[in-house]
Amino acid sequence: MPPEHPMLVATDVHRHFEGMHAVDGVSLEVPRGQITGLIGPNGAGKSTFMAVVAGTLPATSGRILLEAEDITRLPAYARARRGLVRTFQLPSEFARLTVLENLLVAAPHNRGDSLFGALMGRRYWAQDEERIVTEARSLLQRFGMSAKESDYAGTMSGGQKRLIEIMRALMLHPRILLLDEPMSGVHPRVIEQIQYYLQVLRTEGLTILMVEHELHLVEQLCDSVFVMAQGKLIGSGTMASLRRQREIVDAYLVG
Ligand code: ADP
Ligand code: MG
Repeated sequence: MPPEHPMLVATDVHRHFEGMHAVDGVSLEVPRGQITGLIGPNGAGKSTFMAVVAGTLPATSGRILLEAEDITRLPAYARARRGLVRTFQLPSEFARLTVLENLLVAAPHNRGDSLFGALMGRRYWAQDEERIVTEARSLLQRFGMSAKESDYAGTMSGGQKRLIEIMRALMLHPRILLLDEPMSGVHPRVIEQIQYYLQVLRTEGLTILMVEHELHLVEQLCDSVFVMAQGKLIGSGTMASLRRQREIVDAYLVG
């Protein structure tokens, strides 16, 4: 049997901006097949840490392993190819593409990698991208968005846009998905939907690392949680155990 490595290991990760230690020596392990939460007050360095892990922001120092492979020096697209994928806010141009087209252009190694390809329209896709279309449609179906496939993404609600962002990430076949506040600004009914889909994805074996501000959602969703404050990791455990630790509660509430 091969050894079971954690999905992701960060060791002494630093990210400085000028003199500002946004991430200041974070070491953590993300276990496979679980939903791991990252919480902490505003400005704690959570988003910076996620960007460093995704490779969209280089680390000042430290090391990141993906299933025991050192990916510290790899750019974001190479990490995505290895299964480490983060969501991105829909760029403004994508409002003028349909919901389906938004998923198609997210797929790797196809002509829709360029915005040019996307703007060529449906007939362009129809030529040889049947497999990707089928995959995108099955995602739309799973996420209850089939009826919207031909609507412009720009007309979607905040929650539907979040779902599109997640589906676009799933088109890259992640093994670990990074989500930075995927429920912020989303209608409570859609929050419940997103919560349900994330749990289904976990059941299927996807590993998720997510930043979330609403602690009741963290409690319901996350198997374990890391707490950051002022660039440092100040605690970890289940949400229930963290709630019993005075200094964690203080750091979070005082922020
Ligand atoms: P969080 O996501 O926990 O709210 P961030 O990672 O966004 O925190 O920010 C951590 C700290 O780093 C904050 O003080 C923020 O102002 C600073 N920071 C983040 N990005 C930059 C940047 N590009 N340039 C300078 N400072 C930044
Ligand atoms: Mg943030």
